[in-house]
Parts: sequence; structure tokens; C-alpha cells
Amino acid sequence: MNQDNNIILINLDGFRKDKIDLCPTLKLLKEDSYYFPNMFTVAPYTFAALPAVFSGMYPSRNGSNAYYNMFKFRSDEITTLAQLMKQGGYYSCCDIIDDSVVPRSGFDEYNIYDEENVNFLERHKEIIERLSKKEKFFLFLQNTETHKHLVRDIVQKYGPNKDDAEYYKSKNENHERYNSYLPLCDNYISCILNALNEFGISQNTILIFFADHGTSCGEKIGEKFYGVFVYDYTINVFCIIHIPKQSSKIIHQQCSTIDLFPTISELANVPIQNESITIQGKSLLSFINNSETDDREVFVETGGLYGPWPSPEKHNVFCIRNEGKKLIYNDTPGTWEFYNLENDPNENNNIYNPNSIEIRIFKDKLVNHFKENNIKTNLTPKL
Ligand SMILES: [Zn+2]
Repeated sequence: MNQDNNIILINLDGFRKDKIDLCPTLKLLKEDSYYFPNMFTVAPYTFAALPAVFSGMYPSRNGSNAYYNMFKFRSDEITTLAQLMKQGGYYSCCDIIDDSVVPRSGFDEYNIYDEENVNFLERHKEIIERLSKKEKFFLFLQNTETHKHLVRDIVQKYGPNKDDAEYYKSKNENHERYNSYLPLCDNYISCILNALNEFGISQNTILIFFADHGTSCGEKIGEKFYGVFVYDYTINVFCIIHIPKQSSKIIHQQCSTIDLFPTISELANVPIQNESITIQGKSLLSFINNSETDDREVFVETGGLYGPWPSPEKHNVFCIRNEGKKLIYNDTPGTWEFYNLENDPNENNNIYNPNSIEIRIFKDKLVNHFKENNIKTNLTPKL
């Protein structure tokens, strides 16, 4: 891999995978890139999802493991993606909504925008122009355009104390509303691609787009936005890796957002050193070069700010997803759900049965994951 490539990592905050094909530029880019449609976020809300990306670790290992723990990232002990890139000689820069989403360490430039007034097209084009003069750079951009509109149109309209029954009854309308934001997103993708061409760096810049979580359109009562449950419409995200002069491929294997860190490390040719806290993600390049063919097991956790069991101090909803099946454990009411996603992709038919041997195997894996990551639940009280 050419080690002189710049790397631009862009988070399309809350962007649903099923909307990609409605965005012509994003769709074309996807078709001309390595596309991972079965990537899963390890936590379906930004304040836990992005620290996981930047550490390559599940939330409880990196410390950002609840809404109220967003500042508990273990910065003293963990080498972040930005630090690694800086060690590799990359000029490292970000533009983000808030200083809680990505740790400051390792960034030469740490920019924060005002979501209310930001023009992402102008602002990010200007950053790319400036960085194009550097020898090589790593740039992380967060685009919260969709999030901004959702807050205005959903959260403020159907707040916690307002009647939201109408919201869940209006799925088509909710989808149409979401679709109305898509041209803004697609223009942004065009703007980034044009900027790379205009500033002469399209042939030496690796471009990675991903979503940190999806967003509800009213699929399940209790979740208007995201972060409450662990159903696929918020946890099944995607990743598009565009490498100049390389071919395209759809990679169907299941993988996770914590895999982005080691992938970028490998693309940049900056190896991860032996750390005191080991990272948990694995490079995605082994799928690209066909040396790996099986799905990777993924674990997802969350604790909502609202919904039936709000738990902003501690995650209380968990799942393991493997072999087209999913076991969900809701720690607060102490309930279980099991879905066969191949014939029930919308997770409507809970087939949990405590006597099933298959389900017991899933349970054992989930409990082991709790132990390995020091996650305290009612199942593992002694940890
Ligand atoms: Zn987000």
C-alpha cells in the first residue's frame, strides 16, 4: 500500500444504510469502492459510537460506555487513531460537533463547529484545501446535517412529555421526511469529491465514509430517534472505502465499526504497537484480499436517554449478532429476545426459548463478552 496516501474519514451521522441508493453521488461512489453493507456499530449513538471507532475497542474497554460517561474515555491509557496517525507522520485534523465525541489527543488541529449555523460544504472544502498543501494528512470529518434536521423535526416536535403515538403511526411520513434531507447529504458528498479533484489530491487520498448509527423511522414503539434499542435499523450501519486506482467490491461479511481503526492503520502503513489495553477490532483488508471469509461476531450495547427503560448512566440493552441471528438482553426489565434475521429481518417475531441449545450458546457468548469487558449487569453481579 502506498504509504503517502492521505486519509479522510467521514462520519455521516445517523445516516441510514437503506437511503444510500436514493443519493445518486453516494450510490456511484459506493459502486466504485469497497462497500461493507454489513458493518455494525458497537453502540447506536454518537457519544459511544465514535470513541469506539477511535479506540478500536468496545465501550466498556475504552471508558465511554454511557451517555453520562462521555468524558470518561481512558485517554491516559489508550493510543487513539489520531495519535497513531500522528506517530506515523500524518498531519492530523478533525472537525466535529462537540469535544466529547472524539478525544483531543493526537490532533494537530481540533476544530469544533456550531451545528446550528455550520455550512458543511464550505467549511469542509476549506479544510481540504488547506490540508492539501501538507505532505500527508489524516482528516476526520463529522457531518451532522441529518442529525440537525432530526432534532428539529422529531426530537423538538415529539419531546419526552408530548404524545408521540402519532409518530409511530406515520412511518411513511417519517420516511418521506428523512428522504427530504438526502439531497443535502448527497450535495455534500459531491462537494468533497470535487474538492479532492480541484485541489489535486484525488489520486493520493483514501476516502472512507461510514455511519456511526442509523435512525428510527418509527419501526418500534419507544424509539423515535436512536440509542434506545439494538434493532438493525440503528445498529446496521455501512462503510465505503474508496482507494484510488483500486477496484470495487461488495463485502457481505459481518464486521464492526471498531474494525475501522486497524483498517486505517494498515492502509496508512502505521502499525499498532503493543498497548497495555489491547484493541478489539480487526483490519477489514483481509476481506478485501479474500484471506478471511467468515462473518465476525458483533456485540452491541446501549442505554437510552428516553424510551421504556432510560439508562444514561449505564448501558442496559445488549445484543450479540451472529450467523444471521440475534440475541437481545434487556437488563432493566430482565427480558430476552431472539430473532432469526434471515426470515424475520424486521425483528417482529421473538422466538426466544430458554431451553433452546442454540440460544444457550448465544447466551454463553454474551456472558463471556460481559466478563471480558468488565460489563456489570444483573446477569454478572459479581464483576
Ligand atoms: Zn450520531
